Amino acid sequence: MTTANAYPVAQTIRTIGILGGGQLGMMLAAAALPLGYRCVFLEDAPNCPASLYGQVFSSEQLEDFIAAADVFTLEFENTPAETVARLKQLSESGKKQGMFPPPQALEVAQDRLSEKSLFNELDIKTVPFMSVSSKAELKAASDQLGLPLVLKTSRGGYDGKGQFVVKTEADITEAWKILGDAVSGKGNLTSTPAPLIAEGFINFSREVSIIATRAQDGSIRTYDLVENNHHTGILATSHAPAVGTSHLLPEAKKAIETLMTHLDYVGTMALELFVSKDENGKDVILANEIAPRVHNSGHWSIEGAVTSQFENHVRAVVGLPLGDTDNVYPSVMVNVLGEYPNLADVLAIDGAHYHTYHKEERPDRKIAHITLMPNDVAKLEGALEQLIAILPNKMGL
Ligand code: AMP
Repeated sequence: MTTANAYPVAQTIRTIGILGGGQLGMMLAAAALPLGYRCVFLEDAPNCPASLYGQVFSSEQLEDFIAAADVFTLEFENTPAETVARLKQLSESGKKQGMFPPPQALEVAQDRLSEKSLFNELDIKTVPFMSVSSKAELKAASDQLGLPLVLKTSRGGYDGKGQFVVKTEADITEAWKILGDAVSGKGNLTSTPAPLIAEGFINFSREVSIIATRAQDGSIRTYDLVENNHHTGILATSHAPAVGTSHLLPEAKKAIETLMTHLDYVGTMALELFVSKDENGKDVILANEIAPRVHNSGHWSIEGAVTSQFENHVRAVVGLPLGDTDNVYPSVMVNVLGEYPNLADVLAIDGAHYHTYHKEERPDRKIAHITLMPNDVAKLEGALEQLIAILPNKMGL
C-alpha cells in the first residue's frame, strides 16, 4: 500500500498564492479548487471576499504568504511592483515555480503613458495622446490635440477616477487644480509622482473588450468580443458576444495576441477598446488599456463560455493546457452596485446566475454580479428588463 495522499495526481504545485483578495481572487480560487489547487491571498482586509476560499495573509506576513504557496499570480494590478519582481526572482532561482503575469506586464499596465506608447510601438492604434507635467504643457496639449480632451492621471486611477474632460480653454485651470497634484505624487489618487496623460476625446460608438489567456508554452486562446456599458465610469453590463462585431474580431485578436507575446505574458488578460469611425466612415478599434488579470468584462464566461477566464488563468499559472473559449449561449453580465437585490426575485428570472462577493453594501461598490443566460437567445433582452426592474441601483439602464 502506498502512503495516503490527498491528491489524486502527483502535483508539484498545490497552492497558488494570489496578490489581492477581492472578488477576482475569490472567483480564481473557486475555479482552482475543482482542479485540485488551493489558493492563499496577500491582502490587508481580513474579511475580503477571498477569505471564504483560503487563508489571507496581511502585507506584514509577506514571508509566511510566500512560504505557503508554490506559484504566484495577482488579481489587483496596483500590487507593488517590488513584490512581483521578488516573486519572479524567487521563481528564476528555482525556489518557487513562477510569478504570472511577469513584472513587465504589470509595469506597462500601471502607467497609461507606457501602455499607450507600447500599443503604438506594436502598431496597435490608440487615440492621440501627450504627456503633461505642467499647466503650460496642458495648454500645449489642448492646442495640439484640440478640445475636448480627456486629462487622466497616468498612474493610480480606476473606474473613471482621476479623470477630467477639458471641454473649453476655461476648464484648463480647473483640470490642473484637480489633477495637477498627481504629477508630484500628492493627492489621493497616486503616491508615485508621474506625469498626466492628455488624450484626444473620442466620440466612440461602442466600448468593447477582448479577453485572452496565454499558456506557458505560448499558446493563446481568445474569447469573443464583449460590449461594455459604463455608468459614471463603472462597468454596468457586458454583452457577450458583442452583437455585430465579428468584422472587428480579427484585429482585436491580433492586438491582444501581439501584446501577450511581446510581454511574454502568462495568464488571462483583458484589452479594452473603443469602436470608432475612420475618415472613410469605416469602423476602427482603438486600444484604451489592458488589465493584466482576469477582468470584470469576462465574468460572463463562468457560465457563458466552455471554459471560464478564471479557470483558464489557473490552468495557465499552474502549467496545464488551456480550455475551449467558445460561447455556450449569448449572455449578459450585470454588475450589482451598492445595494443587493432580493435573491429570490433574481433567481425567478429564467437563466439568471447570481454571484455575490460577500461584501458590505456601500454606494456604487461592486458587490455582486448576475449573468443572464437563458437557453433561448430571444429571451435575453426580456430577462435583462426583468432584472433591471428589481435592481435597487439601476445604473442608468
Ligand atoms: P479609462 O479609465 O481609461 O477606462 O476611462 C474610463 C471611461 O472614460 C471609458 O470607459 C470611457 O467611457 C471614457 N473615456 C476614457 N478615455 C476616453 C477618451 N479618450 N475619449 C472619450 N472617452 C473616454
